[in-house]
This record gives sequence, structure tokens and C-alpha cells, in this order.
Amino acid sequence: MAFLEDQYKNIKEALAQSNTTLVAVSKTKPHEAIVEAYKSGIKDFGENYVQELVEKSENLPKDIRWHFIGHLQTNKVKYIAPFVYLIHGVDSEKLLVEINKQGQKLNKKINCLLQIHIAQEETKFGLDETELKTILTKLPELEFINVMGFMGMASFTSEQTLIKKEFDYLKGIFDNSLGLSIANFNPSILSMGMSADYHLAVSCGSNMVRIGSLLFGERNKPEAKID
Ligand SMILES: *Cc1c(COP(=O)(O)O)cnc(C)c1O
Repeated sequence: MAFLEDQYKNIKEALAQSNTTLVAVSKTKPHEAIVEAYKSGIKDFGENYVQELVEKSENLPKDIRWHFIGHLQTNKVKYIAPFVYLIHGVDSEKLLVEINKQGQKLNKKINCLLQIHIAQEETKFGLDETELKTILTKLPELEFINVMGFMGMASFTSEQTLIKKEFDYLKGIFDNSLGLSIANFNPSILSMGMSADYHLAVSCGSNMVRIGSLLFGERNKPEAKID
């Protein structure tokens, strides 16, 4: 179970022209693989499971920037709030209010991305445009939140035209938001693209990709797990 150095070189090259940040998705992967990736120069790692993220953050290099990319339950925010660099999957006002509360306790602003529902599948998480509008009106009261942009996951399909349509839609939301002036809202990040679709995502304007299996090999744990 190792880090695929050659793949990393290819990805790095592909991302270099566009100034895109690579988040190495290390969920379910052992410490050794993360240390290898870290030694190759990766400083941003993404995890989906709270317990696993807390354990890894305690035992791996302190200058790693930990991204929480999974579905976050409100009662677990407190475990990651002290050290998390960016929470990608904020998909409800309730969750945002809880993150703000934990930020207040720590007296620090917590970086978040709003997850937008862009896929056809009902099962995927994320806000629709009406919910997004409502959340943006609440943001000025949430002074321990720093919303840095948006995250989205495209449909699980090989149909490139559909995926492109979904990425274009999210890029549109991102672009429109750049003109807004709202307290605690400082959009600069558009997190979209995974192993299978990151080239397309970057061509559609993504500036942060979340790549797991291409860097670390396939995972065997079931993806459906939520914690
Ligand atoms: C697991 C996961 C990824 C990485 O998926 P790969 O296909 O292995 O690159 C990216 N984003 C999210 C939200 C994930 O859960």
C-alpha cells in the first residue's frame, strides 16, 4: 500500500499550468503512504471520516493541511475544529451554525466551502440555489466562519457531456458569487474534480482537485460509510 510517485508527477505536471491545488485524498490509507506523499512535497491531505482524521492529525507531521471532504455530522464538528484547515462539505445552515459555535469556543475563524448539489443523483449531498441564497443571507451573523468558496461532486457516470454540464453549472455559481460583498464570504476556491474527472474539472475552471485512488491505489473500504 504505497504512494504512486509516478502518478503524482503526471498530476503535478497537468496541474502546473492552471495553478490548481492538489488535495491528496488519503482516506482509509495508512500513515506510511501519507508520509511518502508528504516527503514528495504534498502538504494538503483530504479525509472523510472524523475519527480517522483526528487520529492521523495527531500522529503525522504538524504542518500538514487537513481537509475534511466527507459529509460532516454536527455532533462531530468539535473533534476537528481545533486543527482542520478547510471543511469542504458544508451543506446546511445547521452545520454552519455549529461550526461557527465551535470557532467561537476556539476564538478562531474556520475555513469552509459550501457544497452545491450538482449531480443528477438524489443521493449526493449539497445545497440547491435557494438554500445557497438563504445561507448567504445568514453568513454576516456567523463571524467565526470564513467561506472560501464552493465544492461539488459530479454524477458518477462516464458521460463526459453530463459531467461537463455539472461542472459548468458550478463554475457559473462561483463566478456569480465573486461580485457579492458579504461579510465572512471570501470566495477564491472552487473544489471540483476527482481521480476520474480532474482533467475535465480543471478545464471547466476548478482550482482545487481532490484525488485519491490515482495517487494511492484503489480503496477497499465501502464508500457509503458515514461517520
Ligand atoms: C473519496 C473522495 C474523493 C477522491 O476520490 P478518487 O476517485 O479516489 O480520487 C474526492 N472527493 C470526495 C468528496 C471523496 O469522498
